[in-house]
Amino acid sequence: MIRVTVWNEFFHEQHDETTKKVYPEGIHKAIAAFLGKEEDITVKTVVLDDENCGITEELLNETDVLLWWGHVRHNDVPDSVVDLVQHAVLKGMGIIFLHSGHHSKPFRRLMGTTANLCWRETNDLERVWVVKPYHPIAQGLPRYFDLNGEETYGEPFDIPEPDELVFIGWFSGGEVFRAGCCYRRGNGKIFYFQPGHETFPTYYNENVQTVLKNAVRWAKPDVRVSSLTAPHVRKIDDMKDGEDYVR
Ligand code: ZN
Repeated sequence: MIRVTVWNEFFHEQHDETTKKVYPEGIHKAIAAFLGKEEDITVKTVVLDDENCGITEELLNETDVLLWWGHVRHNDVPDSVVDLVQHAVLKGMGIIFLHSGHHSKPFRRLMGTTANLCWRETNDLERVWVVKPYHPIAQGLPRYFDLNGEETYGEPFDIPEPDELVFIGWFSGGEVFRAGCCYRRGNGKIFYFQPGHETFPTYYNENVQTVLKNAVRWAKPDVRVSSLTAPHVRKIDDMKDGEDYVR
């Protein structure tokens, strides 16, 4: 089983009437609902207002893939939590950053850039193009799919060159945007997926759900190391048979 934790800021859903109607239980519950139907996935949800922002080392140790949705309260996540998330990724945990999670502290930490972009809320149609049809995250999708309303995100997007670019979004207002980006950091895999503005029913879209199910399976750990160390080692010839190389 792939153990997934969905982390949500859970602010707009409690304070904005439009968002409340679209996601009455919160974005985290909408995502957990479709992921939880998969036979190989178990899902937990946590929110910013939980104790320690919902994130503990114990939880991360029991999480194979963490999903992260945040927007207006990024700065309420303390650096100690960012450290926990970063270290978990370096040790092998997968992480998927959703939509405005591009400006979250964990994403910026893992990218090392501002992650700034251009944006506009004018109900543009977004056409999400699959640019790597052979990629695991693109399986089961058409050449492109449309989202009838989305927040417009535009280039330049201040991120490191993605290891793999799976989706490009085109918006009816004219912009294009690197909408699906894959990275590796340490032992962990990272996926950024741009659609998912809180006032649109994006997470109920069948193709978006396929993307996220595929992304969870892609991001699950290949290996999980228990600690991050830089060991001082003896010469191979000086070691006895069976001696541990770590000193
Ligand atoms: Zn948004």
